Amino acid sequence: MSVRACDLLVVGGGPAGAAAAIAARRAAPELETLVLDRQAFPRDKACGDGLGPGVVARLADLGAGDVVRGRRPVERLKIVAPSGAAVVGALPAIGDSARGYVVPRSEFDDALLSRARDAGAQVLTESRLEGLASPDADPVRVTSSGSNGSASIEARAVIAADGARSDVRRLLGVAYNDSAHTGVAIRAYVQRPGGFEHMAFYFKRELLPAYGWIFPIDEQAANVGVMIDAARFRRQRRSLPELLRGFLQSSGHENLEPRRSRTYMLPLASDVPPLVHGRVALVGDAASMINPFSGEGIAYGMAAGIEAATRAVRALRSGADGRPFEGFDGWFRQRFGEHFQASARAKRLAQRAWIADFGVRAARRRPELVREGIELLVGEGTALSWRSLARVLVHGRA
Ligand SMILES: Cc1cc2nc3c(=O)[nH]c(=O)nc-3n(C[C@H](O)[C@H](O)[C@H](O)COP(=O)(O)OP(=O)(O)OC[C@H]3O[C@@H](n4cnc5c(N)ncnc54)[C@H](O)[C@@H]3O)c2cc1C
Repeated sequence: MSVRACDLLVVGGGPAGAAAAIAARRAAPELETLVLDRQAFPRDKACGDGLGPGVVARLADLGAGDVVRGRRPVERLKIVAPSGAAVVGALPAIGDSARGYVVPRSEFDDALLSRARDAGAQVLTESRLEGLASPDADPVRVTSSGSNGSASIEARAVIAADGARSDVRRLLGVAYNDSAHTGVAIRAYVQRPGGFEHMAFYFKRELLPAYGWIFPIDEQAANVGVMIDAARFRRQRRSLPELLRGFLQSSGHENLEPRRSRTYMLPLASDVPPLVHGRVALVGDAASMINPFSGEGIAYGMAAGIEAATRAVRALRSGADGRPFEGFDGWFRQRFGEHFQASARAKRLAQRAWIADFGVRAARRRPELVREGIELLVGEGTALSWRSLARVLVHGRA
């Protein structure tokens, strides 16, 4: 067994982990940052591949805007109601960006992890974290195994960005989300000459409480998929591939041939666990940071990774390093807590066909309601107040 030591260990090289590693290296190049990932990169990940304006803003923060350079920007989002009525609105601005992109995760994650390497992080792929002794000890001792053999690693701080089935979360004894706070989803790729115009969410009556999406990648290809709450999925009879077929039929895309379909789970931010455990912090899907309404998780995971890493290296560098992630949990809840609560409420409402119809009808008459809806889905909006609900009721009548 080999023995290694580092200042910051990042477990998981997805967007949350790669963002953490880049931020750590930029803030403190003299500290050693090590990233472990159990898979070989490039690797696929079940995802809608939608990078909202929040992702674009975080890439800019990291000096990694070139990761999406040359890709086709998406500036508008369409919401289709159960009745078939639709509204289209602009993506919200976050930082300097009011654009999104749709980039297959096999490409996006590989490019971002390469930026972490370029920034000076050590990256060990095909290395799985398997054991973690006391998270309060300094250093924290972990064990890993993989294609390079077994290793014992000592780290002064650990960021766990190891995804929806986080091993670190399990080893810390933090329960996974129950089915009321978990989504399941399927994604596939389709091709159509001429492609698709907007990113679109479909709340089709035939599918509710599941909803579907079509996210255009380029002039031909799109990512399509369906998401549903895990608890409701169990109570209905259709499999995820059947739901996807039903979605394509009900949205007038029955001629599209879905390829490379892949399913996975989404731990939803309606139940975010405690984030800091001694010298270990959970971020990204490992910490259930997925918008309950839209299923978006990349932007929040990157924001959390950047913040956790910046706090940790600042503490390690200053020597006042008793608690490298002090204040991180409060920061995250302050920044996104209200947004996630509003998104969870909007999801519950949109699962009722008549309310979704009302909402889209009202939004066709009141453009500010389109903006508020889109901000809940792919921005950082908190606008699901009684006032906005009252406006939906007043303006949503047929
Ligand atoms: C079908 C579907 C559609 C989605 N659509 C979107 C979308 O369009 N836009 C969006 O923003 N979000 C979407 N999401 C959510 C998004 O995919 C996640 O929020 C995002 O991947 C979280 O990033 P992460 O870095 O936390 O975790 P991940 O991307 O899952 O990365 C975790 C990494 O940790 C590694 N790992 C796991 N265990 C270990 C271990 N023990 N040791 C070492 N490494 C380990 C894995 O190999 C993996 O590379 C979707 C999710 C699903 C399932």
